[in-house]
Amino acid sequence: EAARPSNFLRQIIESDLDKGIYATRRWAGSPGDAAHHAAGQPDPAKIRTRFPPEPNGYLHVGHAKSICINFGLARDYGGVCHLRFDDTNPEKEDTEYVNSIIDAVKWLGFDWSQPGNDKPYQASDYFDFMYRAAETLIEAGHAYVDEQTAEQMRVNRGDFGKPGVDSPFRSRTPAENLRIFREMRDGKHEDGSMVLRARIDMASPNINMRDPAIYRIRRATHHNTGDTWCIYPMYTYAHPIEDALEQITHSLCTLEFEDQRPFYDWLLERLTEGGLLTAPPPRQYEFARLNLTYVITSKRKLAQLVYDHKVSGWDDPRMPTIVGLRRRGYTPAALQTFAERIGVTKSDSWIDYGTLEGCLREDLELKAHRGMAVLNPVKLVLTNWDEVMGAGHLEPCNLPALPHPPEGVESPVRHFTIGKEVWIEREDFEEVPPKGYKRLYPPRPGADGQMLPGNTVRLKGGYVIECTGCTKDAAGNITEVLATVVEGTKSGTPGADSVKVKAAITWVGVADGVNAEVRMYDRLFLDAQPDAGGKDFIESLNPNSLKVVTAIVEPSLANAKPDDKFQFERHGYFVADRVDHAAGKPVFNLAVGLKDSWGK
Ligand code: ATP
Ligand code: MG
Ligand code: MG
Repeated sequence: EAARPSNFLRQIIESDLDKGIYATRRWAGSPGDAAHHAAGQPDPAKIRTRFPPEPNGYLHVGHAKSICINFGLARDYGGVCHLRFDDTNPEKEDTEYVNSIIDAVKWLGFDWSQPGNDKPYQASDYFDFMYRAAETLIEAGHAYVDEQTAEQMRVNRGDFGKPGVDSPFRSRTPAENLRIFREMRDGKHEDGSMVLRARIDMASPNINMRDPAIYRIRRATHHNTGDTWCIYPMYTYAHPIEDALEQITHSLCTLEFEDQRPFYDWLLERLTEGGLLTAPPPRQYEFARLNLTYVITSKRKLAQLVYDHKVSGWDDPRMPTIVGLRRRGYTPAALQTFAERIGVTKSDSWIDYGTLEGCLREDLELKAHRGMAVLNPVKLVLTNWDEVMGAGHLEPCNLPALPHPPEGVESPVRHFTIGKEVWIEREDFEEVPPKGYKRLYPPRPGADGQMLPGNTVRLKGGYVIECTGCTKDAAGNITEVLATVVEGTKSGTPGADSVKVKAAITWVGVADGVNAEVRMYDRLFLDAQPDAGGKDFIESLNPNSLKVVTAIVEPSLANAKPDDKFQFERHGYFVADRVDHAAGKPVFNLAVGLKDSWGK
């Protein structure tokens, strides 16, 4: 395994391992692990990390970064990474999202299973514990029921530089709080009529420490616990408990949670004092979220694109969702390389979209089979074919599918035929060639009035041909390019080099070419930072982000299976669409262009 570059998270983990901080952990028998680990047993994992999505949408490229960090660190340091559904918010969650998240993590190449446990964790399994923990806090005077309105609470919380004001309910006795909290649980109070708050410090410079709400009343059916509960824990309260119960050692999150860290530590200290948790507690560390140019990474905004039909769905190949990237032709290896390349830092920055594209190109360059596809076809007729090769003759040709096969491996071979008529790209013929043009152009008068011959090029993998002219329709559009085949110049035969040419052009035989729908994608937004500074990202949508063309592809491409990736020579990397591609109805998506534009 290649050494990976260090970063601040690796340094923290290495230092913790050196000090043996987590070496003597024993399972407590708490609900996070009781089903899998007997109480008192040592924890065989050196570290535990977790990826804790809320199942309220599809994962995107930012989550891919988080997945690669969390699972990657666990892999590298003898640990385990938990997949945990942070499902404490009953209204927004759905099993459709649960399943898509499971698929996405697996597809990225990560595995959360441990001996005896291949189920993901879910926060809602800890509702009983969270409730008990809340009662413990109340009994110790660390929490109280507040009946101020939401507006009063907001106002009384104060602002930066201005201390908050104590709630009139702050001095309730533990017994009174316990009684009312139990009434909340028992459905005796209206939704929104009161909340349970931690009692910390209304004058704290950190607003998050000014008695944050930890439980609210909400009559909503939960996808896991049904109607058992009408009170639900707040995210900031639930999350540290989830981490602690699962014996997470390093709880990694994005920078916006930095201000929550004091509450995270406060809560775990109180619960440890109260005897509900065993030391050492997990620690939270923050890293910069991924910001990618020309891309939006907010589930809410991505949902808006889907619901307003700006894209065809969550898996539209223009979407930065993992399902979208996958359908676009991205590979797990490309996304893993991307996550490593952008690294882990503590300050926000923008990553250039080209970095992501480069990672895909790198992965496909050596792996993707080559093939020829004509995206903007015009017919080329070899006028001497019947005479030289025989009427109706089809000559079998072949090329390697992989120009640089791995060592010791022989490239598969693509078979196709050439006959009297082939398709070429329209741009490969110029009636009046611009300076330096090396592809097909007809005979033209030279300086002394003598006619100069038309240009010769190689039909890649086929023959050298000499251009003789073209035919046009009444409107002057070119309908056919005319050329003659030069006998004895077939690629791979001894005569192949007998005629020197300056260019080889791609083509597909009329006899064996197959029509294919090709979706040419461009970036979804015109603005590099479509939603920065409160801009309306909808205004920045690129009206030309999808262009559908009918291309003609060689037989090896037409026989692709869904999800097969190819390099269409000179055009870029394409994938057979996972959803719409079928035998007899080929559909390809542009995954990423080639770095260098072809033969200009
Ligand atoms: P969104 O803001 O898109 O709705 P989220 O943060 O609410 O995302 P969660 O399901 O809570 O989504 O995220 C799961 C994990 O993924 C969290 O640990 C979160 O920090 C991380 N994550 C989300 N977006 C990014 C991002 N752009 N870059 C890195 N990590 C991210
Ligand atoms: Mg979230
Ligand atoms: Mg978020």
